[in-house]
Amino acid sequence: MIRITDILDKIYDYNPGGDSDIIDRAYIYSAKAHEGQMRLSGEPYLSHPLEVANILADMRLDVESIAAALLHDVIEDTAATREDIENMFGPGVAHIVSGVTKLSGLSFSTKIAYQAESLRKMILAMADDIRVVLIKLADRIHNMRTLKYHGKPEKQVAIAQETLDIYAPIAARLGIFWIKYELEEIAFYYTLREDYERIDALVNKAKDEKENHIKEVRAALHEKMEEMDLKCEIKGRYKQHYSIYQKMISQDLDFEEVYDIIAFRIILDTIPQCYAAMGAIHSHSTWKPIYYKIKDYIGNPKPNMYRSIHTTVMGPKGERVEIQIRTHDMDRIAESGIAAHWSYKEGTKTDETTGELFAWISKLVENQESYNDPDEFLENVRIDLYPDEIYVFTPQGEIKTLPKKATPVDFAYMIHTEVGAQCTGAKVNGKIVQLTHKLNTGDTVEIITTKNHTPSPDWLNFVKTVKARTKIRAWINAKERERSYSLGREMCEKTFKKKNQNFNALIKSGQIKKVAETFGFKSIGDLIAHVGFGKLTPLQVLNKALPEFEKQEAKEDSILQKVVGRRKKKESTGIIVKGLDDILVRFSKCCNPLPGERITGYITQGQGVTIHRKGCLNVMKMSKERQIEVEWSGSFSESYPASIKVETDDRFGLLADIASVISKYKSNILNAKSETRDSGLGLFYFTFLVESSDQLLKIMSDIRKVKKVIDVKRIIQIE
Ligand code: MN
Repeated sequence: MIRITDILDKIYDYNPGGDSDIIDRAYIYSAKAHEGQMRLSGEPYLSHPLEVANILADMRLDVESIAAALLHDVIEDTAATREDIENMFGPGVAHIVSGVTKLSGLSFSTKIAYQAESLRKMILAMADDIRVVLIKLADRIHNMRTLKYHGKPEKQVAIAQETLDIYAPIAARLGIFWIKYELEEIAFYYTLREDYERIDALVNKAKDEKENHIKEVRAALHEKMEEMDLKCEIKGRYKQHYSIYQKMISQDLDFEEVYDIIAFRIILDTIPQCYAAMGAIHSHSTWKPIYYKIKDYIGNPKPNMYRSIHTTVMGPKGERVEIQIRTHDMDRIAESGIAAHWSYKEGTKTDETTGELFAWISKLVENQESYNDPDEFLENVRIDLYPDEIYVFTPQGEIKTLPKKATPVDFAYMIHTEVGAQCTGAKVNGKIVQLTHKLNTGDTVEIITTKNHTPSPDWLNFVKTVKARTKIRAWINAKERERSYSLGREMCEKTFKKKNQNFNALIKSGQIKKVAETFGFKSIGDLIAHVGFGKLTPLQVLNKALPEFEKQEAKEDSILQKVVGRRKKKESTGIIVKGLDDILVRFSKCCNPLPGERITGYITQGQGVTIHRKGCLNVMKMSKERQIEVEWSGSFSESYPASIKVETDDRFGLLADIASVISKYKSNILNAKSETRDSGLGLFYFTFLVESSDQLLKIMSDIRKVKKVIDVKRIIQIE
């Protein structure tokens, strides 16, 4: 078991001015809190926080991180509270420890595979201090190293899978490749045991030969570097089992093809030395550089600040030798990623890499927002990796991504529009909350719905998602439109009626569509709703509709007349108005003039010319200036309504007898009614269509011949 003094020695090495007192106290506190607890390995529990702290010391982290590492499990596993930690070790340590505790509270067991990316983001988002993630990764490394003590194989597999899906990618994301490789290697063993063992056997079989070969190449490299007077360290690298496996799978290669490649790393003091080393290798008599394989990441660093020269040469046996050339500093950054920057920045404000580090993290977290002051970043170690998003769970453990400050209503609409509309309450982590409650990453949210409940316009004041906003607005608009539509329709019907037109007929005929189009509306509903909104008057609709009515009537006439021989009142044909073309002509209702009869016209206000019979009492009352000469055009083939009154001795069947006379002349009866007077007289009123006054006179004379008919009179003034 590692001892606290070993850790303190390491810290003293890289950070001599660090506050070792806080680490001593954290160690004592942790030892007391975990007293009596054991690890599955049989060791005292304290060995675990010590190992985690040791890993962080190897990463040269600051003293707060190491203290927090020693305390990382006390809130979760002992009676200690966040307040206790804060009182004893300050807000910095308390913040980190409670961050680690929050992450431990997440359960990833379900549905990892398809939401792994969300989970990774969630972890990074919850850890508003990157040191929380570093402790979590170190914690995972030690747990993986001791996974063999876990009694349950299925639990081992689950933990290993979680490591592959979540933690190794996070380590890679942060550029800490040694953690990524170690986690993958152990997890590979537990998750794909057969593949692991097959590759392990192949590696061991080839190992001796390979080791000799590596020795030879390494010696040759050393010789070359000494020739050039370049002091360096050379590392021969074996590929990880998991890397071999992945390369075999992804590039469909055999083991030999992957394994034959040998790789070296030459580490020097300065950048000029790196270029000199590259030149030396390329000028080696037996090694041929593969030119397309040369990459200069020193001149052009990767976005994550990785710097190194990569070159590949052909060895004496035609094998490929991959060589990385870099300085010690670059090597440390390449291995430790973000952690490399963390360590001895403590206490010092800036150095030239601060800005670059900053740029790297910005890219790393895909954060568009840019901080102007890099110092601010280092002073406040707390960083917001995903500043605009939160990650919450459904009760089934599914993750939903929402914007910051999102509410249960946003969540409900994200689940389903119906759920949103019927949302009446919510539980967050089991507790009832208000609909305005702001959700936090890691919350489990449950929506309470009530059937037939409808969205409230008030929700627009607090929802954060576009979806919720749009859906609520759409609902309100639909509701308002419904109201405006029925109002608009009522208004149109009234106005049309006043002007002797039928609005419903306009709708029925489909002609209203054209009216809607002339106003620029896509639908009839829009048109009518706009009347209801008050944006359009019913009179405007009527004026646009009148020409459509006429077209419609003309169309109906030609069809109806052939089929039924019946027509509606037709004002515009059969009449010539002297000196005026295209004027609206209508027949008076008072005297119903018929072709052949003497007629006169009367100019009305805005209604065109009305046709009356000469001598109609109404015309005599009207102003002389407004009268105009009109005549029958002679080419009329129209029918006109005429009304008669028939006086009879009341008798059964008389109505049918009179009607048959009228229809003998192929005249359509528009209206018929009868009444019986006390005197025993029967009165019949008929309105029917005739083509001329001659026809009417013939019909009247024939009716007079019907038995029991006393008299027949034309009705001029409608009674
Ligand atoms: Mn732990």
